Amino acid sequence: MRYEPAICPYCTSGCGMYLVVEEGRVLGVEPRKEYPLNEGKTCIKGSNAYKFLDHPDRLRRPLVKGKACSWDEALSLVAEKFRGIEPGQFGVLGSGKTSNEESYLLQKFTRAVMLSNNVEYCARFCHSATVAGLGPTIGSGVMQTSQLDLDRADCLILAGVNVSENFPGIARRIRRARERGAKVVVLDPRVTLTVKNLGDLHLQPAPGTDAALLNGMIRIILDRNLHNREFIAERTTGFDELKSSVLELNLAEVQRISGVDLPKIEHAAAIYAGAKAGCILYDEGITQHVSGSDNIKLLADLALLTGHIGRPGTGVNPMRGQISGEGSGDMGCVNVFYPGFKRVGPETARHFEQLWGVQNLPAEPGKSYMDIINSCKTIYAVGVNPMMSAPDSTGVKKALQGSEFLVVQDIFMTETAELADVVLPATAWVEREGTHTGVDRRVVKIEKIVEPPGEARPDWWIITELAKKMGHGREFGYDSARQIFEEIRRCVPQYAGISYGRLEKAASGIHWPCPSEDHPGTPTMFTEKFNTSDGKGHFVPAAYRPPAELPDADYPFVLSTGRVIFHYHTGSLTGRTDSLTGELAEAFLQINPADADTLGIHDGERVIATSRRGEVRVKARLSRDVPAGFTFMPFHFAGTPANVLTNTSYDPACKMPEFKVCAIKIEKAENGR
Ligand code: SF4
Repeated sequence: MRYEPAICPYCTSGCGMYLVVEEGRVLGVEPRKEYPLNEGKTCIKGSNAYKFLDHPDRLRRPLVKGKACSWDEALSLVAEKFRGIEPGQFGVLGSGKTSNEESYLLQKFTRAVMLSNNVEYCARFCHSATVAGLGPTIGSGVMQTSQLDLDRADCLILAGVNVSENFPGIARRIRRARERGAKVVVLDPRVTLTVKNLGDLHLQPAPGTDAALLNGMIRIILDRNLHNREFIAERTTGFDELKSSVLELNLAEVQRISGVDLPKIEHAAAIYAGAKAGCILYDEGITQHVSGSDNIKLLADLALLTGHIGRPGTGVNPMRGQISGEGSGDMGCVNVFYPGFKRVGPETARHFEQLWGVQNLPAEPGKSYMDIINSCKTIYAVGVNPMMSAPDSTGVKKALQGSEFLVVQDIFMTETAELADVVLPATAWVEREGTHTGVDRRVVKIEKIVEPPGEARPDWWIITELAKKMGHGREFGYDSARQIFEEIRRCVPQYAGISYGRLEKAASGIHWPCPSEDHPGTPTMFTEKFNTSDGKGHFVPAAYRPPAELPDADYPFVLSTGRVIFHYHTGSLTGRTDSLTGELAEAFLQINPADADTLGIHDGERVIATSRRGEVRVKARLSRDVPAGFTFMPFHFAGTPANVLTNTSYDPACKMPEFKVCAIKIEKAENGR
């Protein structure tokens, strides 16, 4: 029996653990107490993380139209189909679960072989608003502090982030900050576990009204002279524009729109502005709106106004959800960025032509995630399940069925794979070597611990073999993940000083930017200047705009979707873990008891929730944790798919769909069953 050190494959807290291995099988998880991030603790997902590895549903052989075949047959067919495709008709959907090496190759394949920038990954649905909001204000959409430093904050604003359920490892560190006296302000329309476990002050805005509330906080800070004049003078521009944008703001109107009592907003503003180290953490609760990028600009404005940025334990920090959610963006799986966030354009294309020794790289921005689904004839989806994660799943199914050729590469037959012409069996996280980059830009090494089942192969091997079949063996002559990482170091300046050798010795990874081998890495960003053209933080005002689809007489309730502690994203892994499905096996619709009473619905009865897109039969869960008129449903479950209901309206600045607000009606199912 061996104890092999590993990193949890789930959330971006990136907890360390030991996998207990006997005769090539992982039998359990044991605490890895010396790992600094979690000191031996794991949440319920992490302690059961190994159970899907040898699940009987694992894909073991390539499938063409459902029939098993050899790798040579499957890849020859895919290569033949891909060869004749116009670049604009080809699209790739990547994942935040794949390794950096695999994400890097995926975008290189799209650009260098298919000559297209139509490459995206799941961040379009969680943090595209971050890039559009933090880009203009501080120049970079990344977490600015190390998660190890969160307990140095003496005020934390948790904006639309349910850390207790979605990032339990990080919640633990916030609890530690609280034990040291930090105050925690939670912004959430629901009374979440985070509100109950960590919140000192709960601001409960009406869904989609965050921008009104944040503008109110800015106005209050200015009115009370709580802003940091020295920081503003030295490190920012645009202060006067921000000031005049809130000059006419009526605080009574802020209270009316948001539904939050003014004294509470004043209290929150005073705690944050008065802190020594104020820290904002935020996630999908505030990004998944048609005004998501405006919400993030306003959060950045708050941080710049108070000077709570550029020091350990401060900043305006996006909580990316997946284990390598940061890494796949760093590697360039984005329609407008080559690796290292080099913006798509002629100069960047020439730069990578030289680095990769190729010609005719695309220089125009590619299609975004939903445009790939809706308009590409040939789609290559790797480690991603849009049938469960994209809005309006009925529309997604129609679009994918209407595509001419769909290839899915994954470890299970997901709802998306069921629609595919070709399914390619990939490996799980400890069945291959590689690196991941977690929430705080921390690059960590993942070791191969067990063999994959059957003929499953690492994603990097599959992409390499496919490129070779398409006549690109010279540019894709890789034999190992290590070799790919060496190329990443040459192409992504932020990773230049990070090597496998260094990562193998590091206690818990290395934070990029790390420009040279003798550089220690950068836990805190923007200590002296921001990533903008002039190095200053730019105040960018943003006015409140209402959500796209508000309740009306036909659809009188607001629905918001999200996650629960027992499950992970589209449920393809946790849905195959008995101990987690034993806790929760299907979705529920959380509804206020007063609303349920009016509708004649009892707790646990089945209801039909209907939006303008479709309907779902789901069990009602009566709870005062949601206010009257508001409902919540988790999106992990294929049998009760929340995204049948959600709205495709999006933020024009970043094409982020508004998952957090849509209008539904609710009826009791026949006999409530
Ligand atoms: Fe895994 Fe996140 Fe749980 Fe840690 S907190 S064990 S990384 S799911």
